[in-house]
Amino acid sequence: MHAVRFHEYGPAEVLRYEEVPDPKPGPGEALLRVRACAVNHVDIDMRNGTSRLPITLPHTLGFEIAGDVVAVGEGVTEVAPGDRVSPLFQIHCRECEWCERGEHMHCERIRMLGAQSAGGYAEYVVSPSWALLTYSAYPLADCTPSILIRSQCMCSPRSHHSHSRQ
Ligand SMILES: [Zn+2]
Repeated sequence: MHAVRFHEYGPAEVLRYEEVPDPKPGPGEALLRVRACAVNHVDIDMRNGTSRLPITLPHTLGFEIAGDVVAVGEGVTEVAPGDRVSPLFQIHCRECEWCERGEHMHCERIRMLGAQSAGGYAEYVVSPSWALLTYSAYPLADCTPSILIRSQCMCSPRSHHSHSRQ
């Protein structure tokens, strides 16, 4: 597949559109075809090398993603191919003391697609299936991918709680 990556920190000119290996969903993961991916100021900080996030070069940015599920790994029950989804911006571990208390924003091992793993500046991205918000049950089902991303900003606190029980 194609992805936009950078091999060194710097201005927008360091971004390269290039061929990369196709990602495959592992157990508990879903493969998404990316329909839209926003540019967040954190993406720019990561590209500039000022984010303090632990990224490995070359890197694919992008954590505000909307897409369609195209394949799922072993044991996935939350989503199926064809579902329109948006991954949580911050993916908590669901195991640490903070997560056990339901205070996910303090998770000791919180991570982001597009930071600790490849993000959505690509044709495809892999996400934990439990961390996907599905829109088939929302009146937003017919809206554009960019609105799906914006809608997560409004509903993510509730979504974090609903997903924490799974
Ligand atoms: Zn945690």
